[in-house]
Amino acid sequence: MFERQVAIDAVLQAIQLCQRVQAEMADSDSVDKSDGSPVTVADFGSQAIICRIISDKFPDDAIVAEEDSQALRKDSTLLDRVASFVSQQGEDTSLQAVCDWIDRGRGKIGQRFWTLDPIDGTKGFLRGDQYAIALALIVNGVVQLGVLGCPNLRQKWKTAGGERGCLFAAERGNGTHMLSLDGRIKEPVRVSHTVHCLAESFESAHGDRAANASIARNLKFTEPPIRVDSQAKYGLIARGEASVYIRLPHPITPDRHECIWDHAAGLIVVEEAGGMVSDADGKRLDFLQGRRFTANRGIVATNGVMHPHVLEGVRLHSNAGSGPPF
Ligand code: AMP
Ligand code: MG
Repeated sequence: MFERQVAIDAVLQAIQLCQRVQAEMADSDSVDKSDGSPVTVADFGSQAIICRIISDKFPDDAIVAEEDSQALRKDSTLLDRVASFVSQQGEDTSLQAVCDWIDRGRGKIGQRFWTLDPIDGTKGFLRGDQYAIALALIVNGVVQLGVLGCPNLRQKWKTAGGERGCLFAAERGNGTHMLSLDGRIKEPVRVSHTVHCLAESFESAHGDRAANASIARNLKFTEPPIRVDSQAKYGLIARGEASVYIRLPHPITPDRHECIWDHAAGLIVVEEAGGMVSDADGKRLDFLQGRRFTANRGIVATNGVMHPHVLEGVRLHSNAGSGPPF
């Protein structure tokens, strides 16, 4: 699939930009959005680069991405910084072009579209922890291709040292592969049926840790959960280092629905490695509702065999009155 190589190249370029920003990060390179969440020069730069590459190769495709250029157009210092990092990727560019590329991400959901999180886990990026660049292609509501760049994720979770950074690429019907960041080493990955370990968000406000702990107890998991930012959690399940990822809304925001770019690439990375992904009721994720999964609540990703047990655990937890009604 031609799209696969284009998506891998685009994500690798965005990773280089993010790593450069991280090495030279100034305080003014991060600002708060209206919802209080942070956005950085790297989020904008990554979106500009990826949207430019996708638009160049697939000019008719819509892109639905997290950021837009509104804040940048009002902040010339920030825009200059973004443009300077984009130019370092070999793009001779104007400020206007950078904003226009970013705004290619305001496309409409339709029969065929891409969805992009230019930096998933911006809080992890700012801490120097995990973050991901997540790009997926959706056709007729089904994710066909997903590329998940994880610049800080070691190729083995439990090995200290070793090469840092990897990329997962999954194509419907063709499995999931893990690549090194120079694109050299490429190996298929599979879920594990013998590992019993939960993955959850590093940020406690992004999920319901009490629910996760009670469901994990019912599943007789004894290992402590792996807490990491971003869709790196899907990568850990795909390569058999975790077996379950549960994401229920935090009790203070029970009506929150997840954004599609936070799960599209991760979903196919897990499914093509032999796992399963659904909402917390076991329903398929509906990518055609809008920028958020308004027809779904919560997310469950597993190695496949655990899936019915986790859904049952979620149901029991909800029925016990200690969680949101599903
Ligand atoms: P993670 O690192 O897995 O928690 O995922 C990071 C993503 O969490 C970001 O891209 C946000 O879209 C999303 N996020 C931000 N605030 C919340 C929240 N209150 N609850 C759930 N997810 C959130
Ligand atoms: Mg995100």
